Amino acid sequence: MSPVNSQKWRNWAGNQTATPQRVVSPASTDEVAAAVTAAADAGQTVRMTGSGHSFTGAAVAEGVLLRPDALTGVRSVDTATGLVTVEAGLHLHRLNRLLDDHGLALANMGDIQEQTVAGALQTATHGTGRDAAGLASQVHALELVLADGGVVTCSRDERPDLFAAATAGLGVLGVVTAITWKTVPAFLLRAQEAPMRWDEVLGRVDEFDEANEHFEFYWFPHTEGCLTKRNNRVEGPAAPLSAFRHWMDDRFLSNTVFGAINRLTHAVPATTPTINKVSARVLGARTYTDTSWKVFTSPRTVRFKEQEYAIPREDLVPALRELRALFARRDWRISFPIEVRMLPAEDAWLSMAHGRRSAFIAVHVFNKDPHEDYFRAVEDLLTGMGGRPHWGKLHTRDASYLETVYPRFKDVRALRDELDPGRRFANPYTRKVFGD
Ligand SMILES: Cc1cc2nc3c(=O)[nH]c(=O)nc-3n(C[C@H](O)[C@H](O)[C@H](O)COP(=O)(O)OP(=O)(O)OC[C@H]3O[C@@H](n4cnc5c(N)ncnc54)[C@H](O)[C@@H]3O)c2cc1C
Repeated sequence: MSPVNSQKWRNWAGNQTATPQRVVSPASTDEVAAAVTAAADAGQTVRMTGSGHSFTGAAVAEGVLLRPDALTGVRSVDTATGLVTVEAGLHLHRLNRLLDDHGLALANMGDIQEQTVAGALQTATHGTGRDAAGLASQVHALELVLADGGVVTCSRDERPDLFAAATAGLGVLGVVTAITWKTVPAFLLRAQEAPMRWDEVLGRVDEFDEANEHFEFYWFPHTEGCLTKRNNRVEGPAAPLSAFRHWMDDRFLSNTVFGAINRLTHAVPATTPTINKVSARVLGARTYTDTSWKVFTSPRTVRFKEQEYAIPREDLVPALRELRALFARRDWRISFPIEVRMLPAEDAWLSMAHGRRSAFIAVHVFNKDPHEDYFRAVEDLLTGMGGRPHWGKLHTRDASYLETVYPRFKDVRALRDELDPGRRFANPYTRKVFGD
């Protein structure tokens, strides 16, 4: 274990910073346990970070910051059962390649693969799916270091309450040291992306959701334009985008040009509606077939800030109509498309989709643009529908609201009282969302 001098930490979006008292890079479960015990002796709090892709202060460490970099081993791969155990700090992109090498895959993923496996899991990271849910539903077992330095494992059969609470546990029940994933045989996805007008998308959203394994869409604010994405499993053959088309669409247009657009709309906000109309047209139709994780994820180099709320699936269309009406009443100039995804109900107690089929509405702004007024108005709208904020994305909710929308919230608190009464794993964010 290598203690490093205090150093400043910042997240991907650059809106959260921390100056922990001590930084440690543990290379094993025993080293994590030793670090937790040493922190307890010194009266310090402990947080492990992932890759810093949360927009909230979820990963901020005040006392001891445990870096994930050295805890990246692969413990076992069982191709017969699909159970794969890796250490907490492994990045998702490395997990994806490892699984690929063994003919396996995650059943569903979010938009990027830069996070660590534990960091992504702890905030219930998700993609879109009719049948396949988020990362929290793809975990078979966890290994955790508790606040007393003890090492435990949990699963649906072993300490099931701890498993349900800690799977997407924001790091408050213990430091996750290893995750056993329940993987599926590797598969190809056929991606169909097509522009569509707002009225048609809203009129057919149920049909698209039912007919496709993974349906999502983006609305370009201030316009009638949407971009729909339908991904479905196929036997093959693979027909990936050409290297040039991939570079043009996913690197040049979606990142280089989009970055330039955001610098322009930041400097001259009045240009936003016109530019959004052009963007809605430029990102046109395309169809390709590729390995699942290459279809699920894309590079994201333009830095932004994001808020995302999960609402009951049946409220999606009314919520979108009200959101559009909100845009009509406000003088906003928003350059980032609004992203809409769906997910089946999940079991994990703190998953945003816990116990209910959910629709997710995500709003973004360029990281140099102000977000407060826009995010707050959207938040007011979606909390009025019982919305649950993504733990890793900006929101202003505290425990008094969260306990009303998470049926098992009090059970998580009770477990926290039992396992971490001294709040070894707390930080300002967890104090706010759990109330102490
Ligand atoms: C460009 C971009 C795209 C994104 N796309 C999506 C998306 O499609 N879907 C989605 O749901 N989210 C998405 N997110 C949000 C992101 O997936 C989550 O915020 C995720 O938690 C970040 O993972 P991370 O590895 O960066 O973890 P961090 O942000 O560093 O940490 C997240 C939380 O996990 C805790 N943690 C980390 N490691 C451990 C451990 N070993 N033990 C205990 N606790 C731990 C941290 O303390 C913190 O509370 C996106 C974010 C960005 C910036």
